[in-house]
Amino acid sequence: MKLKLLLTLILTFNIMAKELPNHQLAIVIHGGAGTILKENMSDEKEQAIKLKLTQAINAGYKVLANDGTSTDAVIAAINVMENSSLFNAGIGAVYTAEGKHELDASIMRGNDLQAGAVAGVSHVKNPINAAKEVMLNSPHVLLSNLGADEFAKQQGLDTVDNNYFDSEYRYKQWQAIQHKKDVSLSEDLLKTDHKFGTVGAVAIDKDGTIAAGTSTGGMTNKAFGRIGDSPIIGAGTYADNRSCGISATGHGEYFIRYAVAHDICARVLYKNISLKQSANEVINQELKKVGGDGGIVGLDKNGKPVMIFNTAGMYRGFKTQSSETEVFIYSEK
Ligand code: ASP
Repeated sequence: MKLKLLLTLILTFNIMAKELPNHQLAIVIHGGAGTILKENMSDEKEQAIKLKLTQAINAGYKVLANDGTSTDAVIAAINVMENSSLFNAGIGAVYTAEGKHELDASIMRGNDLQAGAVAGVSHVKNPINAAKEVMLNSPHVLLSNLGADEFAKQQGLDTVDNNYFDSEYRYKQWQAIQHKKDVSLSEDLLKTDHKFGTVGAVAIDKDGTIAAGTSTGGMTNKAFGRIGDSPIIGAGTYADNRSCGISATGHGEYFIRYAVAHDICARVLYKNISLKQSANEVINQELKKVGGDGGIVGLDKNGKPVMIFNTAGMYRGFKTQSSETEVFIYSEK
């Protein structure tokens, strides 16, 4: 009799353990890393950025709270930032050397490692939505340029004239760079123009699926069809339910060469270390020693947010089931 009771208790406990999720709902976002210093920022701009970050986090979290997928939460958060000229994605994207806008975006989900990306698009209004269409409705991972715009149109996404992405601030930034001599591809330019402003989000939903996405206008005055890390799976974006989800921002050439997003998740998986430790190793050791400026936001498989950068600041914030929305700009912890 006692044995039967014991067995029943063990069985009940096992069922409960399986049903209780060991993760919390969570979303973490960034709006770019760089030389973001309080002395260069007006109170008004600071408030506007914090408000937009808050709106983006809340839009994404609402999807999660309504039992939506982490993919849709990432899209909702990134759309808020793409539709704001405060960030270098969608409206407010930087100018290329030719004075146009070419946008990159990618998304990945961690339950089945499906991913989609677009590079060098000029007309799709929200590039992250095009990345999602590539992931869900094409056999491919990465589409580029006019073909990617055409695909987005065929999928019924909104398209716009290229000047829809114009903003005064980015135009002035580009003009200032144009007046410097022969800087179109110089390392110096890439190093000094540190107001990157790429946007990204990582979310985990009720099923424990992690999704990560990144969207950007790239780097100011970029030339010759330059593509950064943001649409490169494993560099700017990665998600694997076994380890973590990552969205990166920074000097893309370094993030590509160091396969940053994938490296961080791989270290978590292979070395069995925390996401925080792994991200610190990659961002503050590997990248820092070679001059690769930037940062990441990520979630581990339990929904614990991590935000690590080696620059003066990074627009960032998160909300989890156990904490209210919090946003940050400078390197305060
Ligand atoms: N990583 C982006 C790129 O290199 C720029 C950024 O993060 O702001 O295109």
